[in-house]
Amino acid sequence: MGRRMLIGIDLGTTNSAVALWHSAEGANGEAGARLVPNALGAVLTPSAVSVLPDGTTLVGAAALERMSLKDGATATSFKRLMGTDRKVRLGRKDFSAEELSALVLMALRDDVEAHTGMRPTEAVITVPAYFNDRQRKATRRAGELAGLTVRRLINEPTAAALAFGLQDKAEREPFLVFDLGGGTFDVSIVEMFEGIVEVRASAGDNRLGGDDFNTALVLAARGRLDPEGLLGKVEDRRSQALLAQAAERTKRALSEGQEAEFAVTVDGTRLSTTITTTEFESQADGLVRRLRDPVVRALRDSQIDAASLSEIVLVGGATRMPIVRKAITRLFGRFPNSSVHPDHAVALGAAIQGGLIARNGGLEEIRITDVCPFTLGIETAERTARGGIQSGLFSPIIERNTPVPVSRMGSFSTMADNQKQIDVTIYQGEAREVSGNVLLGTLKVPVPPKPEGEVGIDVRFSYDSSGLLEVDVEVPLTGAMHNLVIIDEEDRKAASDLAARRKALAALKHHPREEAANQLLLARAERAYEEFLGDIRAVVGDRTRLFVAALDTQDPRRIADAAAALAELLDLLEANPPL
Ligand code: AMP
Repeated sequence: MGRRMLIGIDLGTTNSAVALWHSAEGANGEAGARLVPNALGAVLTPSAVSVLPDGTTLVGAAALERMSLKDGATATSFKRLMGTDRKVRLGRKDFSAEELSALVLMALRDDVEAHTGMRPTEAVITVPAYFNDRQRKATRRAGELAGLTVRRLINEPTAAALAFGLQDKAEREPFLVFDLGGGTFDVSIVEMFEGIVEVRASAGDNRLGGDDFNTALVLAARGRLDPEGLLGKVEDRRSQALLAQAAERTKRALSEGQEAEFAVTVDGTRLSTTITTTEFESQADGLVRRLRDPVVRALRDSQIDAASLSEIVLVGGATRMPIVRKAITRLFGRFPNSSVHPDHAVALGAAIQGGLIARNGGLEEIRITDVCPFTLGIETAERTARGGIQSGLFSPIIERNTPVPVSRMGSFSTMADNQKQIDVTIYQGEAREVSGNVLLGTLKVPVPPKPEGEVGIDVRFSYDSSGLLEVDVEVPLTGAMHNLVIIDEEDRKAASDLAARRKALAALKHHPREEAANQLLLARAERAYEEFLGDIRAVVGDRTRLFVAALDTQDPRRIADAAAALAELLDLLEANPPL
């Protein structure tokens, strides 16, 4: 069948998910978005990539499990590096964040193919509202590297609002989307007006997320966890991974109870301590305080007061923490809505937007507008009180949070007698002085020499959702027009070798999807082998050898038996490690 298949993807810092839109004519009659499980039957796939010693790449839970191995060669949290030149070395190869993201996208694409029998060709991918242009373009390229046509990048809060049924509400019922993920925090105000979903404002902190709460837990535990300094004796990277994993377990347990154990096993020795909610709360106080600012900023930018919000919806796994929920309830004076699982909302919303694009019934009338996430303007100068000139000032033309596409004009005039040229220097950012902003380009505009202030120019900025900025300058006195289209230079460079990079990625050996469960088991076994010593280590080694031998026979029955025996042992060791 030549049908195009469009998937919705939440490419998260910690976990990613993929969903499909089912139209009412589909198999079971009910229209809606549904998540697609991976080879392990889970709908969340850890955004982790590992390269095995033989060069094969591995994505998801098994990769995450390899994180703390001595030769782990695993990358996580690489979404934080999107749009930068930083490379991550795994085994013998360097990967950029967009390449690692592409590997995750490929895995999700393969999951959909295995599940539906159809190969997805197109995708809607979500990005944090606060992602800048460069980060958005890197995300788009990741999709293309994975062989997907990226029909649209949408903001995570927009997707979330759709999953929470914004489209079924009356007009002008603003939703505040509170999204605390693994690595980023976004607050957005989303509203529907005249049938159009609009992000009225977004603010955030792209250096704050659930991972930071893990760090707080490590700090809370560290002092009394390891009086003998055992952790200092193992490789730094490994001890950090062990502590981070322990903190993650403790954090989740603290979402269920008043206290939890913080435990790590180092070379066969188990270290543990108990952490209470009160302790966690006081250690994480600084992080919790940082949640307030973006909320205030988003409300102010959208000129909506907290009382008139229709819903406060929670997105991102880290909103499961009771200390975070408590802070939100205190901040707004009411309880947030968490009727959709906070980890599923964004992927479901992306699939709903996919359904929209494919013009499925029911959602046709909704269009979505995005906002320009940063202020765009030019450099100007000003006369000071003492008659001098202060240059290097930033004059905004398009303010942040303006819905796009947008076209705005500003008028300026010469600052000196007989000035022959005006340099229109374009910046993006929020700082009052241009030195604090990002330089985008310069347009040199010749003007007729006249006394100061007599020659004016009109500068028009047009910005669209693909991130293209067009600058038109008119000199009304002469009627001369000048034009500049700003495309990221770096972006063009990166785009030019896209085909070659796609080939290189496709040429990597990927671990067969159907072996995901076995790979996860092997990684767990290797970890246990590294963690324990003596008799236990010997037993782990024996059962692992039997399992590997069974895999070699390719006899499904023998593999299943050996896997069960190994899993039983590992479950026992993980649940109840010997002291
Ligand atoms: P996301 O980036 O949206 O996948 O969010 C992942 C973050 O949510 C990570 O920092 C997780 O540790 C955190 N998280 C997931 N489940 C829980 C839970 N039950 N309690 C506390 N934090 C959680």
